[in-house]
Amino acid sequence: PEAITVGELAKRMGEKGAQLVKALFNMDMMVTVNQTIDQDTAELLVEEFGHNIERVSADDVEIKVEQDVDPEETLKPRPAVVTIMGHVDHGKTSLLDALRGTNVTKGEAGGITQHIGSYQIETKDKTKITFLDTPGHAAFTEMRQRGANVTDIVVLVVAADDGIMPQTIEAIKHTQAAGVPMIVAINKMDKPEANPQKIRERLLEHEVIVESMSGEVQDVEISAKEGTNLDELIEKISLQAELLELKANPDRFADATVIEAQLDKGRGPVATVLVTRGTLKRGDTFVVGTESGKVRAIVNDQGKQIKEAGPSMPVEVLGLGGVPGAGEQLTVVENEQRAREVAQYRREKATEQRTALAPTNFDTMFTNLQ
Ligand code: GDP
Ligand code: MG
Repeated sequence: PEAITVGELAKRMGEKGAQLVKALFNMDMMVTVNQTIDQDTAELLVEEFGHNIERVSADDVEIKVEQDVDPEETLKPRPAVVTIMGHVDHGKTSLLDALRGTNVTKGEAGGITQHIGSYQIETKDKTKITFLDTPGHAAFTEMRQRGANVTDIVVLVVAADDGIMPQTIEAIKHTQAAGVPMIVAINKMDKPEANPQKIRERLLEHEVIVESMSGEVQDVEISAKEGTNLDELIEKISLQAELLELKANPDRFADATVIEAQLDKGRGPVATVLVTRGTLKRGDTFVVGTESGKVRAIVNDQGKQIKEAGPSMPVEVLGLGGVPGAGEQLTVVENEQRAREVAQYRREKATEQRTALAPTNFDTMFTNLQ
């Protein structure tokens, strides 16, 4: 078995070298494109990117990569994934709650059980939209750093009685850096002091040019509190989603991204994940971060147990070996043996790296104290 440079591997995988460097960094390995990595690492990386490895013989694995991009004919339309961002108190949570109430196929009578923060609504024209409740900008950034760009559309909430605030600017920057289309929701229009035009003008300074200012960004004046114009916001989201022609292959092992996770007293580690492709099924064996697991239960946004979840569905997964971080990839694998191998390998690598880095950190610590 031979070592391979990151650059060469990237070429064979048809990926950008920088993407591999980033993935390695997330596996706690600091390497450049010109450096070599061992075969185990290479194999792992190949799998991380969803490619397959061709084995030449039992102990000689030639890293010939089959591109694991789902063929065009396997792709089916999937719901858009929307993240609501904006400054604190501008009404993100209120909007998320209000939009949930617009679901035409509400669950039980007398309101909807808010089970997990992320949910899907069905619009009047029967298309679905997924709203992600990422706990704050930090999670969004963390997820992006892990290479998990799960958001298709950002709804930027700006309070009409306030203005462009630091977190508004931060949200704009993240959205622009991620290359994700944005829709501006000018909120709190019910307030007498609301001044939406001022918001539109101020947005210009941050290169967010709305349609009425001869730009391309859609905007809508809403009141999350009174439920005003939410249909219009949903229409704009649908329109944007149509333009994106979002698709995924539902008929394969699932890949999902962790949105958030915690240790539940009764149920153990629980993760809210977003299925990015394939269909996640009860009983599936998977690896997430450095842990392997087996899907014990899948719970939907209404708190109901379901047997499977397809692309763009946010669900809770039970059966994890530990609590993963936001942005970590959940990958279904063929069997438990393979899951344990991958998980064990990732753990060893993480430990090795921590040991290797310890003295440096120690030095830095002292330097910082001086
Ligand atoms: P977040 O921090 O962005 O999640 O903001 P919240 O949704 O928690 O809202 C902050 C405050 O603004 C709360 O007191 C809400 O009741 C209020 N609020 C949210 N939307 C509106 C709105 O459309 N009109 C008015 N008047 N108040 C709103
Ligand atoms: Mg909030």
